Amino acid sequence: MACRSGARMNCKEFEHRIPEFLNQTLDYRYMEAFREHMEKCDSCREELTIQFLVTEGIKHLENDGDFDLDAELGRLLEQNNKNLRFHQFRLSSRRYMITTALILVGMALIFQFG
Ligand SMILES: [Zn+2]
Repeated sequence: MACRSGARMNCKEFEHRIPEFLNQTLDYRYMEAFREHMEKCDSCREELTIQFLVTEGIKHLENDGDFDLDAELGRLLEQNNKNLRFHQFRLSSRRYMITTALILVGMALIFQFG
């Protein structure tokens, strides 16, 4: 399998994480690298799509068999985007709180000595 990607995650690692991604249990530590690799590496994106089709196909065969796989994959990626954005927001709001706390401490010091 050819891979021209210079991303942080290699193809082997990506493949290893596909089931976790599909089960939405992929750790946030790997999420960004995973998405980055997916966007850069055609063969891995294909692999992900195939595994998704198989997983979802089986799930739906057990139910009724009436489904739109493209829409399902789109929904999964959209859900993943939301999770990732929320995670990034949480990280940045924590940084924001630390900055605010530092400013308050700085102001308290200034007023104390001013
Ligand atoms: Zn790859």
